[in-house]
Amino acid sequence: MDPRLAVLGRTPPPAPLGLVTDLLDTWFGRTADGVGEDGLRTPADLATWCRARGTAVADDAVGCDDLDLARTVRAGLRAELARHTDPELPVDAEAVERFDHAVAGLRLRVRADPFRLEPDEERVVRRLLATVVAAPLAVDERTWARLKACRDPLCRTAFYDGSRNGSGVWCSMSACGAAAKQRAFVERRRVKRAGERAESSEVRG
Ligand SMILES: [Zn+2]
Repeated sequence: MDPRLAVLGRTPPPAPLGLVTDLLDTWFGRTADGVGEDGLRTPADLATWCRARGTAVADDAVGCDDLDLARTVRAGLRAELARHTDPELPVDAEAVERFDHAVAGLRLRVRADPFRLEPDEERVVRRLLATVVAAPLAVDERTWARLKACRDPLCRTAFYDGSRNGSGVWCSMSACGAAAKQRAFVERRRVKRAGERAESSEVRG
């Protein structure tokens, strides 16, 4: 188990989905003004990410088109996972369309015994990204639906919902969950005080 998950009290995702959360984890810490940390800013960043996943590739073997593909796949998956958390959330049509278009060019082939989809790409970067997009097909629908993106739109960290009834919405109860609870508390208090003020002015009037 990834020690970071233990610290956050998170359940690790089933093996094929680990690569999906790995890719989504390259984008984090967005602030209110929309600026965040992006671990995939250059082709060399993507090469580093691939090497950390056991795929040997030189920096100069990764191009801007590969980087574009990786980021498009990441945005499309994040949009999908946000709807696993909140199904009533509007579809991010732009992210989905860009994802569909980019992934249509990735080659996958069916293999037997056991039946599975395998990447059929010569270049290692594209092979790894094809593995990412094929990962959801390697698990059942209920398992896939438990891979979610944090409800906080400024966070959207991917997490596997290991709760008994599959109702988890926060990447971590101690971070985003606690912050949301605090905001709800402040809002309830504000409404209550406004109500009290209205009541006392009625009494005076
Ligand atoms: Zn979060």
